[in-house]
Amino acid sequence: MTIQPKFAGYAEPALHAQGLYIDGKWQPGSGIPVIDPSTGQVLAEVADATIEDAQRAVEAAHRAAPQWRATAPRKRSEILRKWFELMSQHAEELAILISLENGKALPDARGEVAYAAEFFRWYAEEATRIGGEYRDTPSGAHKILVEHEPIGIAVLITPWNFPTAMATRKIGPALAAGCTVILKPASETPLSAFAMARLGEMAGVPPGVLNVLTTRNPGPVVNAMLADPRVRKLSFTGSTAVGRMLLGEAAKSVVSCSMELGGNAPFLVFDDADLSAALDGAMVAKMRNAGEACTAANRFYVQAGIHDAFVEGLTGRMAALKIGAGYDAGTQCGPMITQKAVQKIDQLVVDALEGGARATTGGAPLAEEGFFYPPTVLENVPRNAAIAREEIFGPVAPVYKFDTEEEAIQLANDTEYGLAAYVYTRDITRAMRVGRGLETGMLGINRGLMSDPAAPFGGVKQSGLGREGGVTGILEFMEAKYYAVEF
Ligand code: NAP
Repeated sequence: MTIQPKFAGYAEPALHAQGLYIDGKWQPGSGIPVIDPSTGQVLAEVADATIEDAQRAVEAAHRAAPQWRATAPRKRSEILRKWFELMSQHAEELAILISLENGKALPDARGEVAYAAEFFRWYAEEATRIGGEYRDTPSGAHKILVEHEPIGIAVLITPWNFPTAMATRKIGPALAAGCTVILKPASETPLSAFAMARLGEMAGVPPGVLNVLTTRNPGPVVNAMLADPRVRKLSFTGSTAVGRMLLGEAAKSVVSCSMELGGNAPFLVFDDADLSAALDGAMVAKMRNAGEACTAANRFYVQAGIHDAFVEGLTGRMAALKIGAGYDAGTQCGPMITQKAVQKIDQLVVDALEGGARATTGGAPLAEEGFFYPPTVLENVPRNAAIAREEIFGPVAPVYKFDTEEEAIQLANDTEYGLAAYVYTRDITRAMRVGRGLETGMLGINRGLMSDPAAPFGGVKQSGLGREGGVTGILEFMEAKYYAVEF
């Protein structure tokens, strides 16, 4: 990897990526520029893996598998725990690295590092608590004994919006379960993944247990790994469109899939809500990572009685945010990941405005160096506008008015997605009733943030398959083996 001198001091040299990480060795290379979205300038260049590199990574993961699987859970746990501690020690450098390559404001990047490290701590704890099952058959003929075994080699694919946390959310449970892995991070944000791998090396992860490769050709490279019969798991986080394609590829070798895909989260505010708390929650749900989150509130449905006050309050808070380079002190809203992302947001906003919406703040891209779109609030948005159906993935809050609870639930469910939702009301009975009516994998009740390593994260409908985190997350990397025992 080459690093532009201006950025060379972003982290201690030990954390600089040295190339592809295969079988515990760093293989130098170049070919993929990493862009700083705050300036549009090239930050570094990382290696471009070929299909042969990917095959070597599978081979390395295969060779390391028997020993890792046989490593005592306590030992696997201690390595993950050490990795957590190293991440905590290097938290500030990791956060700056995230800000540099992803653009997110430093407070968000710091939050991500803390969240990411917690997956190693949580799965260090879970590694020693893998249970089984024992029961009588109803007929009394025999006993049922169930063990959970590591599923085998896992390919992990992660997006750019949480470059560290999406990796640890997969690596933690996979390694705790006894699997060996190949991580393919997003091309926009590979530096965080390589820094993680360096820390993993320091923590004592044996060669071949974790392999990391970046490529300009994710389709052919990933497909080649999925076609290898030794690969038994695909854990993907990214867009629904790519997820669908990968499910098709995985089907050819009947590879087990966990899919964390796109979202279109509704944020419901009822007349009886605490307005100030709802606004606080709205800012977190909308503006964490400047809106580039799968759980980001994408549609604000606000009951008629509180609607105008909510729009006024949200407009004031959004307009007051400080925009700037992610790593600059005081920045609250960093750039988008690419210029293309800015254009997509712009198209959605223009379409809404042409349909009759009104921007109470923001509403057009900023003509500055870097990929900036300002915090924007839209009111009077047509319910059938494209912005109501598509993931905005930016700092735009469209607000829609509703009258009844039934109408709110129907509007909230009117999407192919079902990842996250939010409800604000002082009536807990209503909150639970609405929650049961919502087609969602996760619901924030009077809370704008739900992610927690100890909780099952995931969606329904076209937002995905399976859950990450929590006590069930480790089972995504295990197979149940049933023994019929007579004695
Ligand atoms: P993306 O375009 O789907 O890319 C995700 C990953 O897939 C990247 O590593 C990408 O590599 C790789 N990829 C792209 N095409 C591929 C192919 N044909 N075969 C194999 N891999 C391929 O998504 P993104 O733009 O990075 O991330 C944003 C999306 O992720 C949003 O939809 C968001 O909602 C979703 N997301 C979901 C969750 C969740 O937990 N549900 C969490 C975070 C994000 P390259 O970078 O090299 O193209």
